[in-house]
Amino acid sequence: MKKETQIVSVGRDKKWSKGVINPPVFRASTVVFDTMEEMRFAIQNRANGEMFYGRRGTPTHFAFQAAIAQLEGGEGTALYPSGSAAISGALLSFLQSGDHLLMVDSAYEPTRDLCNKLLKGFGIETTYYDPMIGEGIAELIRPNTKVLFLESPGSITMEVQDVPTLSKIAHQHGIVVMLDNTWASPINSRPFEMGVDISIQAATKYIVGHSDVMMGTATANAEHWEQLREHSYLMGQCTSPDDVYLASRGLRTLGVRMAQHEQNALKVANWLATRPEVDHLRHPAFESCPGHEFFKRDFSAANGLFSFVLKEGNLKAVTAFVENMAHFKMGFSWGGYESLILGVFGIDKLRTATQWDSSKPLIRLHIGLENPEDLIADLSAGFERFNQVITK
Ligand SMILES: *Cc1c(COP(=O)(O)O)cnc(C)c1O
Repeated sequence: MKKETQIVSVGRDKKWSKGVINPPVFRASTVVFDTMEEMRFAIQNRANGEMFYGRRGTPTHFAFQAAIAQLEGGEGTALYPSGSAAISGALLSFLQSGDHLLMVDSAYEPTRDLCNKLLKGFGIETTYYDPMIGEGIAELIRPNTKVLFLESPGSITMEVQDVPTLSKIAHQHGIVVMLDNTWASPINSRPFEMGVDISIQAATKYIVGHSDVMMGTATANAEHWEQLREHSYLMGQCTSPDDVYLASRGLRTLGVRMAQHEQNALKVANWLATRPEVDHLRHPAFESCPGHEFFKRDFSAANGLFSFVLKEGNLKAVTAFVENMAHFKMGFSWGGYESLILGVFGIDKLRTATQWDSSKPLIRLHIGLENPEDLIADLSAGFERFNQVITK
């Protein structure tokens, strides 16, 4: 079955939805039982879709969890109140004091902060590695290395990793492989077939798709599901059924939205590639992006998020570019229907295993569902403002 088809029906089991199309919102803390026997049954089956207590979830949650687990290709999915909570929840479920973590150097900034602050305080040591390290990862593995964390493509700089090679080497040493799979969403890659043990989504992005809910998911394979599920439960992680309802509603249109984001972004990226001001594109579908060969091998499609590097420029010129855009708005996050622009500075300070040349400014775009011709006109005017500052 193709993913677009699967998206329409996945998780819509009658036992959750009672036959309506969208599983309704079940709000609950207390669930009441008539008999001791009924209560005992609920306790025993609380991890198998029996309602037991609100924190364990309701049919609204169970339907969405089943949908994400099936799309990602894993055994089960834990829900979290944000993508960052999914990352910290997954890491803390498999790391203890004295353990060693291998973290990709191009990780999302809050993931890096988590390692450098909270995990460090717990006595968990992090080594950052070059996203393009490939087989070289073997040299960084220590006897106490417990988790290898990947994010592919990396945040902002978009390096695509060789996930199967990294997973294979990690598994030779009994290391749990986690992937921040947000860019691919649950439909454009097959993390579990590439050897990933836990695939994480910031559902806030394309799954929700409308910039109005924060949510995270972590999906585990059969070997790691019980530990992930029980540890996330111990940490008290839960999500509002109203938010889950919105996320599962967003999910149904993920296929068409992603295809349109991809098509619009490719038009804009192809136009940017012709601009004399542009040094290179950091878009996985372009050869100039590190790991482009892994994108071609491992992903079925791209989306609306990419970056480009300018040949020259400074804060003032980039500010003139990104301010006063007609359609692109400045703001964090991505994956909604609207276009966003970010002038990103100080990337060199967020890299320790690799080097980044910050003398060339980087601009990140999220291409929304507007007509790409309007977006190109907007960027063209931005380049005019940029050039006026540069040539002054
Ligand atoms: C946004 C993002 C996150 C965090 O998600 P939140 O829901 O904002 O906490 C994690 N990883 C990646 C790659 C992201 O882009």
